[in-house]
Amino acid sequence: AFENDAIIVVLGASGDLAKKKTYPALFNLFSLGLLPKETHIIGYARTKMDVATFHEKISAYLKGTDTEEGKANKEGFLKICDYISGQYDEDASFQNLNQAMERIEAKTKVGSPSRLFYMALPPNVFTVVAKGLKNNCYSQKGQNRIVIEKPFGKDLESSREMMGKLKDLWKEDETFRIDHYLGKEMVKNLLIMRFANPLLEAGLTNELVDNVQITFKEPFGTEGRGGYFDEFGIIRDIQQNHLSQVLSILAMERPKSFSSEDIRDEKVKVLKFVPPIKEEDVLIGQYTAANGKPGYKDDDTVPKDSNCPTFAALTLWVNSPRWKGVPFILKAGKALDEAKVEIRIQYKDVTKGIFKDIPRNELVIRIQPNEAVYLKMNAKKPGLDTNTLPADLDLTYKERFSEVRIPEAYEALILDALNGDHSNFVRDDELDVSWAIFTPILHAIDAGKVKNETYEYGSRGPASLNDFIAKYGYKRSNDSYEWPTTNVQ
Ligand code: NAP
Ligand code: NAP
Repeated sequence: AFENDAIIVVLGASGDLAKKKTYPALFNLFSLGLLPKETHIIGYARTKMDVATFHEKISAYLKGTDTEEGKANKEGFLKICDYISGQYDEDASFQNLNQAMERIEAKTKVGSPSRLFYMALPPNVFTVVAKGLKNNCYSQKGQNRIVIEKPFGKDLESSREMMGKLKDLWKEDETFRIDHYLGKEMVKNLLIMRFANPLLEAGLTNELVDNVQITFKEPFGTEGRGGYFDEFGIIRDIQQNHLSQVLSILAMERPKSFSSEDIRDEKVKVLKFVPPIKEEDVLIGQYTAANGKPGYKDDDTVPKDSNCPTFAALTLWVNSPRWKGVPFILKAGKALDEAKVEIRIQYKDVTKGIFKDIPRNELVIRIQPNEAVYLKMNAKKPGLDTNTLPADLDLTYKERFSEVRIPEAYEALILDALNGDHSNFVRDDELDVSWAIFTPILHAIDAGKVKNETYEYGSRGPASLNDFIAKYGYKRSNDSYEWPTTNVQ
């Protein structure tokens, strides 16, 4: 029903997410001709501003508008973007929004465009806005869909409470919970890599895999938003949602089909095999000032006694027949040495007997930046003798698919929501099983029972990180290791 026409309402249109992600994604979809034919976009927020000012605000983040074609696209796009100011807790404001939508609908050929409500809002107003929309802006003719962004609660209980309230208003098939990692090209590629390649899939078991790391690294700190961050911390910000989504797709069994329900059934099933994280399987850290950069607590908005982790390494155990005994280490941190999100699957040692010392195979899936999949493997050193050499099978996207533009996660997700495809959105029971894994450790950290180790801004994390990872079996092949002239026994 979204094929012919649609009205997209961006709630919180004056905010950060709207201008940096939502509108640029909508613009790219518009430019590619992928939005439904007669789409209208209405920005809605409390801030009073005229449409021209709003256009100026969103234009700053639209890319590729320098060329003739880009300019024309921008003009066309801004023509379909309107802005209405209103309150979040007032029926009259939502009725005003509804009337604006009805005026648009009266002019369209179909007369009953579907409505997509995108909540780019802080969580404290999710419920009240969802209610205001349901009561005042729910189309009786076309379809209605609502898109919401994390955070979905702070623990199992608050998540259930929030989701419960939303479910009373909006049906599960009308609700699209965004975890934007599910829109990332490499995360979507996981399904294909696993299930279209028997060779790779066969090796993803506890018989061959020694340990798995799923890593998120950011080279900057909270930079002025520490007060907001302090309520959540890195585990709620990254591991509970993004990295646990990656884990579920990496570890799940093959779904019956690629339909959204079959995929999400398998994701839930595998997460149910993961017991709550134990304190002994946790290393948390907080960054301190270094290299001219401020520490986390130097931010005036952060409480001086904060025990909020800005780094965490958490080991999860997937007790399914396939994965029993294989540690999945989810690492995430701010103010580290680099920007990177990757999956690193390290395989077991070669059976002893032939080689004296030889690095392990590793399959690395780099989600960002520079999407790549590479398999670190051993080869014979070219030449007349029989030495080994570390080498790799390399699928670096920029090289292999140089002509292809990789879409932004939000483009893919908004398009899916318009098409009613739930595959890359979070189902309510997924949230539940994931919160069950993380809630006890989050409560222990909130209560100060698990303490942060400090680490310097710009480092790889707390000093004990390497020992922590090594405890679970990870072996780093020594870069300065010189390949011996004869390492064949
Ligand atoms: P934001 O800029 O702080 O807020 C969006 C808009 O909501 C503001 O422009 C403001 O509009 C209104 N607002 C702000 N604080 C409010 C309050 N206390 N009560 C009522 N209204 C308030 O937030 P955001 O960064 O865009 O994020 C929106 C949502 O997306 C959040 O749930 C966030 O966690 C999630 N998210 C954001 C990002 C990102 O890159 N920013 C990434 C992932 C997820 P008016 O005052 O004009 O009404
Ligand atoms: P690597 O630098 O050999 O290893 C990275 C891993 O070692 C990460 O798990 C990292 O942990 C850890 N590590 C880094 N510094 C450490 C230290 N001082 N102590 C202990 N652990 C440390 O890189 P790689 O990704 O395995 O790649 C191997 C080679 O293949 C590289 O030369 C790479 O450039 C090349 N390659 C690149 C591509 C490509 O970019 N497309 C493709 C194929 C091969 P953290 O993540 O926690 O920092």
